[in-house]
Amino acid sequence: MLRGRCHCGDTVFEIDGELPQALTRCTCSFCSKRGQLYAYYEPGQLRIVGVPSHDSIYRWNTGLVAHHFCAACGCGTYTDSPAFEIGGGWDGVSRRIGINARLFDDFDAAEAPVTVIDGKNLW
Ligand SMILES: [Zn+2]
Repeated sequence: MLRGRCHCGDTVFEIDGELPQALTRCTCSFCSKRGQLYAYYEPGQLRIVGVPSHDSIYRWNTGLVAHHFCAACGCGTYTDSPAFEIGGGWDGVSRRIGINARLFDDFDAAEAPVTVIDGKNLW
């Protein structure tokens, strides 16, 4: 079980799972500005603790991806996206959760191995 929170603590989440072998950094126009490092999970592995009062969503381009963030402290919290395959295909149903790995308790995301995905050219 992993736990994390945004800076102000309004959004607190738990992950029924482990840290991935490597975090993911995406080069798309949004992620390169935001600087988030993602840890990916199945939707069923994420539990939001309580009801955050400042949870907000940013969508761009196709609008298929919900980028959740805390409107009180500004931290990106998690992303709810289609479970795209390598190459961009999607079955139209499956979702994937991308947690902002910098929010995990007692974990230094800046020291973790990182895989880069070429979002700049994929979408
Ligand atoms: Zn917050």
